[in-house]
Amino acid sequence: MTAPLLTVRDLTISFGQTEVVHGVGFEIKPGEALALVGESGSGKSVTAASILRLLPPQAHVAGFISFEGTDLAASTEPSLRGIRGNRVGMIFQEPMSSLNPVHTVGRQVGEVLAVHQGLRPNAARVRVVELLRSVGIPDPERRLEDYPHQLSGGQRQRVMIAMALANDPALLIADEPTTALDVTVEAQILALLKAEQQRRNMAMLFITHDLGIVRRLADRVAVMTDGRIVETGPVADVFSRPQHEYTRHLLAAAP
Ligand code: ADP
Ligand code: MG
Repeated sequence: MTAPLLTVRDLTISFGQTEVVHGVGFEIKPGEALALVGESGSGKSVTAASILRLLPPQAHVAGFISFEGTDLAASTEPSLRGIRGNRVGMIFQEPMSSLNPVHTVGRQVGEVLAVHQGLRPNAARVRVVELLRSVGIPDPERRLEDYPHQLSGGQRQRVMIAMALANDPALLIADEPTTALDVTVEAQILALLKAEQQRRNMAMLFITHDLGIVRRLADRVAVMTDGRIVETGPVADVFSRPQHEYTRHLLAAAP
């Protein structure tokens, strides 16, 4: 048995008096893709954000979170900073909100390398071009001086993926990264993520409301509703023999 890369146990998240996540638990093995699926408002995003303590300060988080043997719940902010963007990459639904509109693409990707790898500008430039090429940005040398608004939505998401993968993370957390994209672009981005995940043998926590994406991308699935995970298992098992009433409802409602 391989030891889990990430273990979450008894995770509870509240905002003021309102508890929105009620004792959630799951594990991800190295190289494994786990999909967290559920309808809007079920608590997927706050669960993901709590792993690296990225929730706003008014959120109250309790529970056990261990990553690569480190107890994240007990970690200090400086050690969490070393894990974020380095051992764990993150991508979100709307890349425009994560990219700085007034800095060029080359500078932003370069900064990720400079912060975590201490590369000098020239070496960083070569790596930035390589990275942008690896995520399918055509003519990357010529895009370095572009600002985010000069790229298409799909290209912006590719830049975000390049930044998330720049430091070879052991885990990628992807929170609905294709929800804002057209279906054809979505298919390309999903194919890129799957290929990178397999090539790097990287684990992935993929958050989505789309069962088709779960089928395409994930090894295992955790079904979330109303702040609880009601069912977890290999995708083929859960889809062919759903055990929980809510999973049956979700499968019946899917196109
Ligand atoms: P999902 O990602 O599954 O759509 P979220 O994790 O974003 O759902 O939200 C789960 C619940 O937590 C929702 O009821 C949402 O309104 C609430 N919530 C999320 N962020 C905040 C916040 N900053 N303050 C108060 N409530 C929040
Ligand atoms: Mg969400």
